[in-house]
Amino acid sequence: MPDLSTLHASDAEKQVFRDDLLSWYDDHKRQMPWRETDDPYAIWVSEIMLQQTRVDTVRAYYRRFLEAFPTVDDLAAADRDDVLKLWEGLGYYSRARYLHEAAAQVVEEHDGQVPETMDAIRDLQGIGPYTAAAVLSIAYQKPHAVLDGNVARVLTRIYAVEDDSTSSTTKRHLRRLANELLNPDRPADFNQAVMELGSTVCTPTSPDCDACPVSTVCRAHAEGDEERYPITPDAKPVPHHDIAVALIFDDDGRLLIQRRPDDGQLAGLWEFPGGKYEADTDDSMEAACRREIREEIGVDLAVEEPFYTLKHAYTHFKITLHAFRCRIADGAPTPREDQPMTWVTLDELEDYAFPRANGKLIEELHRRQEEPSLFD
Ligand code: SF4
Repeated sequence: MPDLSTLHASDAEKQVFRDDLLSWYDDHKRQMPWRETDDPYAIWVSEIMLQQTRVDTVRAYYRRFLEAFPTVDDLAAADRDDVLKLWEGLGYYSRARYLHEAAAQVVEEHDGQVPETMDAIRDLQGIGPYTAAAVLSIAYQKPHAVLDGNVARVLTRIYAVEDDSTSSTTKRHLRRLANELLNPDRPADFNQAVMELGSTVCTPTSPDCDACPVSTVCRAHAEGDEERYPITPDAKPVPHHDIAVALIFDDDGRLLIQRRPDDGQLAGLWEFPGGKYEADTDDSMEAACRREIREEIGVDLAVEEPFYTLKHAYTHFKITLHAFRCRIADGAPTPREDQPMTWVTLDELEDYAFPRANGKLIEELHRRQEEPSLFD
């Protein structure tokens, strides 16, 4: 393979991508609700939701979100808890928080119009090079090529790129090549066509090269070694944490929940209080539960019995969550400044947004609510 930094798209490659790929797309594109609108705000919402998330999952969330917040002004004026509640289960909650903040920026700084230039749209909270190029090309027909995982896979195979595809240098060169290949007359369709190709034909395993409209210019296909690309460094082992969680009931059968801090992972979501088991400090998971609650909200717990244990995988780590049924033995809960707490009934839990693992606990609480003594 030639040096990626000096590699340029040839005329033949441009012709195949600009003509054959778009003809294929015209015949094969899937129906998606965000492909039936030219509203820049709706397109922006869809692009944020589609990051790291499957199309079929996004459809229902997209519909509900736009029903609740049909305009950027509606979103800007919304309560953050309501935004997070509509995002519950979609994951990567920073996307929702940034989208909400960026909507306020659009209203305050751009008179409610999603910006049309690269500099202005990149200034919005949570908008990186991918989203900026996607919104500008799809909503405004601006000639900016996108580079997401699907596009990167297609291009590393087309050019048999031997460099680490996750490095920022490689990504910069792939984005440049994508811009050279882009059809300036149809930038929206071009971008969506390459992404569609990566998602339906040039798949990570067993790509369907016989059905591929750009196979004539694909070096990986010529080598008969398609799955060799993209080259990625060996994956690091995923860390695992044991988490002790307190289901603290009061005398009326209500549960104590607490909001996570405004910064960091799962920021702003609600959860049952608890924390990490520390092997050096804690004799047992129950001890970890008592220690965490003492440190977090300043009360002594009576840990009555194990309630449920579940495993959950987040993107960068896995957890085993050990939940205990508890009562307060001594003291009054004292929330930290940015972490309000409240007592709620099982039905009222539905009004709050929880991370997925806590959601599984809530499902278990519902399943077992008829058990004698669970809420007594
Ligand atoms: S020929 Fe095969 S490997 Fe090459 S872009 Fe098409 S589907 Fe991907």
